[in-house]
Amino acid sequence: MDFNKRNKYNLRCSFCGRDKTEALILVAGIDAHICEVCVEQAQDIINDELGKKQITEGDFDIPDSLTPKDIKKHLDKYVIGQEEAKKYLSVAVHNHYKRLGQHDDDDIEIEKSNILLVGRTGTGKTLLAKTIAKFLNVPFAIVDATVFTEAGYVGEDVESILSRLLQVCDYNVELAERGIVYIDEIDKIARKQDNPSITRDVSGEGVQQAMLKMLEGTEVHVPPQGGRKHPEQKLVNVNTSNILFVCGGAFDGVEKIIARRVNTHVIGFKGQEEDGEEIDREHLLQYITQRDIKSFGLIPELIGRLPVLTYLEPLDYEALRRILTEPKNALLKQYKKLFKIEGIDLKVTDEAIQYIAEKAIEFNLGARGLRSICEAVMTDAMFELPGKKNVTEFIVDRDYAETKLSRSKLTKLKAA
Ligand code: ADP
Repeated sequence: MDFNKRNKYNLRCSFCGRDKTEALILVAGIDAHICEVCVEQAQDIINDELGKKQITEGDFDIPDSLTPKDIKKHLDKYVIGQEEAKKYLSVAVHNHYKRLGQHDDDDIEIEKSNILLVGRTGTGKTLLAKTIAKFLNVPFAIVDATVFTEAGYVGEDVESILSRLLQVCDYNVELAERGIVYIDEIDKIARKQDNPSITRDVSGEGVQQAMLKMLEGTEVHVPPQGGRKHPEQKLVNVNTSNILFVCGGAFDGVEKIIARRVNTHVIGFKGQEEDGEEIDREHLLQYITQRDIKSFGLIPELIGRLPVLTYLEPLDYEALRRILTEPKNALLKQYKKLFKIEGIDLKVTDEAIQYIAEKAIEFNLGARGLRSICEAVMTDAMFELPGKKNVTEFIVDRDYAETKLSRSKLTKLKAA
């Protein structure tokens, strides 16, 4: 019998058995055929499975073996100093993700450990939150509390905090629901004692109230594009129960509140100083408590939803010097890499490094100042050297750094 001929007339889908006459199209493989219905079904299965896989990949079942010490060790690679903050943050993050893995039926519910970081600008608050999110491979968004106003006023609703998070993970709601949000300048929504309007506190208490539920964990209807500019946009439901919120602020003047409190304490307990604890008045931030934050103007309900409170020290000369060279992506390492791409070996002498750190202290710009100073020192070389023949090495010493900086606009900062 002619085998090929018989086959031609009895072709069937090898998956569903549909006859050629019942199928619109039969696609031929080496030993099999597939009809258009089965192709469609197969595509659905592929989409489903790939979707699931993406979620589990971003999902972190934090490995049981990962300890707070491991988290801190990772932070150490990127953040100089700030030992206390790193320790608190490592424990809080560890507990947060342990909590997600809990499926016990007992009545003990581990509450969320949202975090409040207090410290001057440029001391590493954002860097800490960002570094943890990257380490855990979870979506991370930074939002600024100053743009929020109470619903009904000009500005953004607090729900748009979650729009940013959705945007960074391509609107994958499951991923967003396990992310970390850093809310910067939380101190700027403090209740103002001298608020001229008694009935309306548009940017203060109303915003704090609006944030409560979200921090605690609830279903929030989020405008995917953020803001209120697109009233027609379809809202997306996001559950915030497993989102970790890290809030940061400089809380300018909180030291005075702490000083007042510890002074009263010392006077009140005079004669009872057998514990011998002396107060380090140079570093008052270490004594910060929830009470001080309340006196500053955050409402107790909001403070209650940020149970982990820690502080970041102002960066001293030694810390700034180390920040220039030690972290994994330290500024000077970045410049070295940029020069290397041009085939130039950049060397910055110890004296030059010390000079840059001294200037950062003088300008009082924290670690952010380091970047501006380095730019002022390096820009001419980065402009002149690329393309120049026979230059294989470039040395920045203290004299060179001094000359370049003295000619830059930055020095005006000192006069200001
Ligand atoms: P904050 O959020 O406290 O205002 P950032 O975390 O944004 O400050 O810090 C600004 C930049 O300064 C960071 O990107 C980082 O390069 C550097 N920096 C600040 N503090 C530290 C630190 N403790 N260790 C290393 N780098 C730091």
